[in-house]
Amino acid sequence: MTSPARTHRDVFGADPAGVWSAPGRVNLIGEHTDYNGGLALPIALPQRTAAACSARGDDLLRIHSVQAGETVEVALGDVGPGSPHGWTAYAAGVLWALRADGCEVRGMDVTVDSAVPVGAGLSSSAALECAVGAAASDLFGLGLLADDAARARLARACVRAENEVAGAATGGMDQSAALLCRTGSALLLDCRDGATEHVPFDLAAAGHVLLVTDTRASHALNDGQYEKRRRACEQAAAELGVATLREVPPGALDEALARLSTDELRQRTRHVVTEIARVEAAVAALRDGDLAEVGRLFRASHASLRDDYEVSCAELDVAVEAAEGAGALGARMTGGGFGGSSIALVPEDAADDAAVAVRAAFAARGWAEPQCFPVTAGPPAARDI
Ligand code: ADP
Ligand code: MG
Repeated sequence: MTSPARTHRDVFGADPAGVWSAPGRVNLIGEHTDYNGGLALPIALPQRTAAACSARGDDLLRIHSVQAGETVEVALGDVGPGSPHGWTAYAAGVLWALRADGCEVRGMDVTVDSAVPVGAGLSSSAALECAVGAAASDLFGLGLLADDAARARLARACVRAENEVAGAATGGMDQSAALLCRTGSALLLDCRDGATEHVPFDLAAAGHVLLVTDTRASHALNDGQYEKRRRACEQAAAELGVATLREVPPGALDEALARLSTDELRQRTRHVVTEIARVEAAVAALRDGDLAEVGRLFRASHASLRDDYEVSCAELDVAVEAAEGAGALGARMTGGGFGGSSIALVPEDAADDAAVAVRAAFAARGWAEPQCFPVTAGPPAARDI
């Protein structure tokens, strides 16, 4: 990644007022729980999206992305549900959502450059939104980076950008992770009330690493699978007479399953309820330093996502099995599924072997080479320069 400030000068002919950045994320555990009012446990990645930005006095957003390889102009007055199309929606949508929230925001010149793999389930979309949102906050004096409450408000604007302008019906985990995570900690996110807690996550001190595998597989969610899962959860909650599946305690699961109308709803509900319980167990295990238990929970989470929620795919299953076969305490798909990335909890001295095993398993099947890299829990969105 070259300096986004220099690219900005080349594209717009002037220095940016500053550079802001926001991280991608991996979710340690708690998948497909956010839109069920449940618990998730993401960390911020060291990989970040940078946005070199200047404020404008008019209502024009001019935005360049190194990854998209183009510069686009968007009039803020034209931004709204479904408009603009394409990648600029993620940035323009944030300015639109901030205005809708009563913030005085004008146009900007923006240059985006990212080290977060795009479309790999590591949340490049929220990194883009939150980098632009952080810049807008500082450039227009909104104070939305000041504390966790202000950051949560900015996260909500970024969620609206993604849901309403970009039209991607995701939950709120990604934006909360990008804005609220802390170095060396995982973020326990309660999606029922937005409450957060920071859980120590320093694997190096315990002689372990978290290995991410970007499978480079992408069986797009565009065929409506994500929406289908959300609707199934809503229907299950409606049949059970609760607002969300969060309201089903693990102890009442069997009784709830018996009341549901179809096997599909039973499978989806079993995943959500057991997955939320696994997040609580993982937090307790991390606090106890019991990484073997964390690994066991990763395995159970993956099996549940594969068999009950049916959002895994061959590439994710192979990456998980290969890592476990090479000494990982546990591994699981992370993110929405149908491709994207997996994570593995690996003793330091087995990390290279695990990466080699994953690559070999893909090569043996004739699949494109996956990217394996260790990650640590990094800092949230901030001004860099
Ligand atoms: P993920 O968030 O897991 O990477 P998404 O499908 O949610 O995958 O978001 C990817 C989309 O976000 C891209 O298709 C593009 O529209 C937009 N995007 C993310 N990062 C960039 C970037 N650096 N430049 C341009 N667009 C980006
Ligand atoms: Mg995304």
